Amino acid sequence: MKQFLWRFHGGLHLEGRKELSNQVPIRPAPLPNYLILPLLQHIGEPTEPVVQIGDRVLKGQIIAHCHSNHDCSLLMSSPIHASSSGTVTAIEPRPVPHASGYSATCIIIETDGTDTWMPLQPLPHYSQMSPETVRRHVAMAGIVGLGGAGFPAHLKLKSTGIETLIINGAECEPYITCDDRLMQEFPQQIIEGALILSHALGGAKRCIIALEDNKPHAFHALTQVPQTQVEIIKVPTLYPTGGERQLIKVLTDKELGRSRIPSDLGIVVQNVETTRAVYRAVLKGRPLVSRVVTVTGNGIERPQNFEVLLGTPISLLLDACGRKTGLDQLIMGGPMMGLSLPTDELPVIKTSNCFIASNTGELVNNSLPTMPCIRCGSCAEACPINLLPQQLYWFSKGKDFTKLKQYHLFDCIECGCCAYVCPSHIPLVNYYRYAKAHIRTQERERKKADQALQRHEFKLFRLAREKTERRLRHQAAAQKNPPEGN
Ligand code: SF4
Ligand code: SF4
Repeated sequence: MKQFLWRFHGGLHLEGRKELSNQVPIRPAPLPNYLILPLLQHIGEPTEPVVQIGDRVLKGQIIAHCHSNHDCSLLMSSPIHASSSGTVTAIEPRPVPHASGYSATCIIIETDGTDTWMPLQPLPHYSQMSPETVRRHVAMAGIVGLGGAGFPAHLKLKSTGIETLIINGAECEPYITCDDRLMQEFPQQIIEGALILSHALGGAKRCIIALEDNKPHAFHALTQVPQTQVEIIKVPTLYPTGGERQLIKVLTDKELGRSRIPSDLGIVVQNVETTRAVYRAVLKGRPLVSRVVTVTGNGIERPQNFEVLLGTPISLLLDACGRKTGLDQLIMGGPMMGLSLPTDELPVIKTSNCFIASNTGELVNNSLPTMPCIRCGSCAEACPINLLPQQLYWFSKGKDFTKLKQYHLFDCIECGCCAYVCPSHIPLVNYYRYAKAHIRTQERERKKADQALQRHEFKLFRLAREKTERRLRHQAAAQKNPPEGN
């Protein structure tokens, strides 16, 4: 049956550079001597350690949990598991992958070299269990969006009235090939994972795996799996088709309005690797302790994909790929939306899908001078969200935060299309990021001030009430026991 597809506004045809790393099978990365596991590897609340220095741990054991009741399925959080067996040697701040190079609390495990799993608890008969049971199992397995977003997977499964489940294999950013290799090598697991997700959603009517048409081998592998419940759909290669809004538009012609989420349209989108992690958690009992990571770029001899234990130092991966001398840029994610990292002495975390090492400035040419905006309009033509990037730029520059909100700054997905086409080489996304951070800080401070004012007003009210109560008590006592002699 012919599948109708639609087109979103803007977008770019980019040079993929995927052939660098998608030619060879996924290999296991070396087992490191120590693992660095940050307590926050997802969007939401950080976890709290449930181990102490000196504890022996097994692979798959929970080492950090959501605060309060230890039931992560209720919270915007996700537990952290030991990704190999060994001994906890420290719980302390360490640098983590972040643009600002900041440090956060991490649990350090010295591995014992045996990589011994704790007893695993799969749910082989999941289809006879309630969706809620499966959802809680996914939550306790520590699964978050592995496409780079890090949104706890169990929260999306809480949605009700879901008609369409989309498994996102678009992988539209240049260089990244981990999803492509996964679909080529583990198509059966991805399809089974999709069926588990559908069950956890109470039975989505339609289940789709969507991938860009630049992945013919992955498409072939998926279509060879004998099954009839999951549609495999090729979509045109156009950046950023892998964005949720864009993929929904292409597949269903539905527009996700401002400030709305896919479940408002009866749709849930999960990434291909997240889907495979759900398969492993439910049918094998394996919590999330590893992921596939693309290591690529011209700063290494042998670009490839690894199955990497979470917490592995990035430097170990670069060494395993034959690091060249003179590394001048390291990016986590893709060249359009990724984070530039200040060092490779940082751990792989749940959202690390790709590292691009460059030794020739091949990624971002910062040497081109920024020129004044010539109001050419190219940025608006390229914007997949249909925003007005040049206006956002002027308002960001002028710190006009009211106007920025009116022009929907927070709908910007920071895809970088506008900056990519700008003939004046204006680093537009940097302006938007700065403005967003400023507005968020302002709002946090206003909220804090409002709360402080409320507390102060309540204190005044309480003092006045106590004073009145005291006066009334004294009056009542005086009436009951009038002074003698009156
Ligand atoms: S593309 Fe650059 S020069 Fe053209 S309007 Fe946008 S910001 Fe201005
Ligand atoms: S970075 Fe933001 S403004 Fe620029 S093209 Fe992408 S969504 Fe539009």
